Amino acid sequence: MKIAVIGSGYVGLVAAACFAELGHEVFSIDNDEQKVAQLQRGELPIHEAHLPELLARHRGQRITFTSALTPPVADSEAVFIAVGTPPTAQGEADLSYVESVARAIAEAIYSYKVVIEKSTVPVLTSRWIRKVMLLDGAPAEMFDVASNPEFLREGSAVSDFLYPDRIVVGADSERCAEVLRQIYAPLTSGSYYRQSSPVPKPSGAVIPPPLIVTSAQSAELIKHASNAFLAMKISFINAVANICEAVGADIREVCEGIGTDARIGRRFLNPGIGYGGSCFPKDLKAFAAVARECGYDFHLLDQVMQINAAQQQRFLRKVRNALWTLKGKRLAVLGLAFKGGTDDIRESPAVELVRVLLKEGCSVRAFDPAAMKNAREVLPGAIYCESAYDAAAGADALLILTDWPEFAHLDLDRLRSLLAYPIVVDGRNLYLPATMAAAGFLYYSVGRPDAQPAEARGRSREEKTVAPVPAKVD
Ligand code: NAD
Repeated sequence: MKIAVIGSGYVGLVAAACFAELGHEVFSIDNDEQKVAQLQRGELPIHEAHLPELLARHRGQRITFTSALTPPVADSEAVFIAVGTPPTAQGEADLSYVESVARAIAEAIYSYKVVIEKSTVPVLTSRWIRKVMLLDGAPAEMFDVASNPEFLREGSAVSDFLYPDRIVVGADSERCAEVLRQIYAPLTSGSYYRQSSPVPKPSGAVIPPPLIVTSAQSAELIKHASNAFLAMKISFINAVANICEAVGADIREVCEGIGTDARIGRRFLNPGIGYGGSCFPKDLKAFAAVARECGYDFHLLDQVMQINAAQQQRFLRKVRNALWTLKGKRLAVLGLAFKGGTDDIRESPAVELVRVLLKEGCSVRAFDPAAMKNAREVLPGAIYCESAYDAAAGADALLILTDWPEFAHLDLDRLRSLLAYPIVVDGRNLYLPATMAAAGFLYYSVGRPDAQPAEARGRSREEKTVAPVPAKVD
């Protein structure tokens, strides 16, 4: 099928590459000329596993990058809208990009098309899209508007797209639902997984995935409700972690105990410095705004957001407790992206924390495997390092702010010898307190008792005076 995907960002670009991978002929359209030129040259504007292979395989074959909207839309049977829906100052979703794209599509309709919302939008947006398209002269019988929310996670976006838990199609006509069934048929029939070299199956993926057909309104609500529920799970476990800290319990044990209940599940029970990224913060605000608009005060969402904001403050207190004073301290920071596996720093708790630490007079030596280019633009005051060890050299403490897998496998002896003081404040619980204590660190994490080396716990006053003060390394 010929498909146009408007917006070549995290969602649009991944969707376009994956549709090409499923055998469709895809136009990936963006009004950012620079981005389009970059994609045409074969350069990738984002960091995402498997995306380079997919684009190398399909660029110039099944996928074309362009900034012109009308000819490819006119030529396509399905048109996906994947532009941004950022929050307004009041917290509602700013739908102006969606509206301008809908108007442009209306002008390119000469044969039947399905226009599909892939962007995350408030309930009833599909009706608005239809309305503006009709006002802009699109003949009523020539198009349908559907909702096909995207559930991919940055960092594993390609795998999530090709091995989804489910595909949700919100369609108000059978003709339109059928177009979407055909688009996803290689996944729902299982044929994609039987071909010679599919993207590797992630563990736990259920194939083939189910395709759930609902009304457009239900599909729009499914996306907002899913994100709100996941954010609630994170805030809930962060709140429980705070209780653990107060009573000396271990959140890891608590998570295991509650997560093994099949009704609750283990995923997303990861205490830390709070959620961030381009989705949860804005989608929660937008969902709360939708509820207000409907006359329902969704207090629970306000609480979820408040707990999340407070979690960053608690982490800062932890850093203060570990270091006493902050001014003039040299800090190693591991991680700037809002989560591991991505270069996205939008609403990243790590970036916010570094901003505060710089303001407090700390010097920050940061390392992130993918997000440093983006971070440089918003945090010019930090020093960007070549590796975790480079960042640690001579630092008064090491802070772990993003859950990159490689940060969980550091050479602890090397780290210990590089740091001026063996202090690690781990906002992602990547290590076991006992392991860190045995490796000679004072270790602070979230929802677990602080750990310190045996010698620091049990040394006599006499021993302490003779213990060497760790040398500062420049
Ligand atoms: P993004 O900012 O990375 O990409 C949006 C793209 O749309 C940009 O490249 C921009 O130049 C382009 N664009 C804007 N106006 C345009 C226009 N008039 N014509 C053509 N292109 C235009 O955003 P994203 O992260 O890909 O998110 C897109 C939508 O998908 C949002 O609604 C978001 O909430 C939703 N979503 C995002 C994720 C995620 O993990 N990022 C996951 C699920 C859903």
